Amino acid sequence: MKQKRFILDEKEIPTHWFNMQAVMPNKPMPILNPATREALKPEDLYPIFCEECSKQELDQTNEWIPIPEAVREQYASYRSTPLVRAYELEKALGTPAHIYFKNESVSPSGSHKLNSALAQAYYAKMQGVTNITTETGAGQWGGSLSYAAQKFGLECAVYMVKSSFNQKPYRRSIMQTFGAAITPSPSMSTRAGKDLLTINPNDQGSLGCAISEAIELALSTPNCKYTLGSVLNHVSLHQTVIGLEAEKQMEMAGEYPDMVIACFGGGSNFSGIAFPFMRHNIQKGKKTRFIAAEPSACPKLTRGKFEYDFGDEAGLTPLLPMYTLGHSFKPATIHAGGLRYHGAGVILSQLMKDGFMEAQDFPQTETFKAGVLFARTEGIIPAPESCHAIAATIKEALKCKESGEAKTILFCLSGHGFVDMGSYDRYFTGEISDFNLSNEEIAKFIESADKLNK
Ligand SMILES: *Cc1c(COP(=O)(O)O)cnc(C)c1O
Repeated sequence: MKQKRFILDEKEIPTHWFNMQAVMPNKPMPILNPATREALKPEDLYPIFCEECSKQELDQTNEWIPIPEAVREQYASYRSTPLVRAYELEKALGTPAHIYFKNESVSPSGSHKLNSALAQAYYAKMQGVTNITTETGAGQWGGSLSYAAQKFGLECAVYMVKSSFNQKPYRRSIMQTFGAAITPSPSMSTRAGKDLLTINPNDQGSLGCAISEAIELALSTPNCKYTLGSVLNHVSLHQTVIGLEAEKQMEMAGEYPDMVIACFGGGSNFSGIAFPFMRHNIQKGKKTRFIAAEPSACPKLTRGKFEYDFGDEAGLTPLLPMYTLGHSFKPATIHAGGLRYHGAGVILSQLMKDGFMEAQDFPQTETFKAGVLFARTEGIIPAPESCHAIAATIKEALKCKESGEAKTILFCLSGHGFVDMGSYDRYFTGEISDFNLSNEEIAKFIESADKLNK
């Protein structure tokens, strides 16, 4: 029988995360204070984030950052995650390509996001913080943080966009099960929420407002810090545990990837699987291709612009040098909620600009079609976000079929879709459609970022 799953021994779970910033030929441009236009220092981030995360955010020198033993112990309850050779998918496609996937859906929260949630909760605890807070849209990050907070004995307050709070009751229940307090946003508990509710008592909320509420809570409560599940450099750092494991597991399988593929929201699961392999392109002249799969409805890498922009709609964050569609961008309500973000991480944006990675965009009907084929062949129902990585993998595998090349493809299965069956339902009844964005529409949104670069 051919070996299909590759698992590492507990001892082989990585002891360090890999810091891409230390090996990049061109370092990312500085993150700026919007008022003074001065480069941010770690201390500037301390009021909002934990000190250790703030330092990691701006660390451009240390290539390897030790994973705290207590975090490694938590990792051991679900890591290593399996690396799987997708023989059945290969057969269905009739491709000579060898397809592997790294299955991050086996974590307690069902996605890769727990890899960073555990690290952020741990650092908060070590610093003497008692409460952590965040926002959540679709609920994946909120669920991961709730679980991590409970593991390290912290109180967790999640602001959930009111429309999601009402439409996705199971995500809410998951967070409650793990012990978090969930507040629909906008709420009366913050100035930001009160202001909005005064104007419109029926405001259904937005991610921008939920972020403002969570940050306000962190700034106004002693011993409370804010956390974020994607986009930031320290989140990408924590996710490199995915690629470092995959590197060893691919070795067990006797292969090295010609292509590494992941879906792209803010870039954390992409960074996680890609960076450990990309370092060999930079340091050893390897020629692996790195492909980010994004939704056509939110195409920041394929159609956005590289410039300084705010990380949030309200303009509360520092200015980030990144590929962006403009912070005023309003993505269509596609089912891959985790990919509806207007910008890309700072490290990733620089790598994209320098040609170390590429991006492709996919309409959502094509991604669900890919996800269904994957479910029927490999037996795992993927999250709508992960379906984008599968669509890109299928596209490349079919190119191999045409050319007859047996390329090795590795993709990240970022999460499972058990709480997204409503979306699959709508796909089967034909209620899912694609959204076309004109160049004019995109240009108009990007103006909100252009203004900051004058
Ligand atoms: C949040 C999420 C994503 C997108 O976030 P990235 O930071 O780009 O990885 C992708 N897949 C799943 C399952 C998610 O929950």
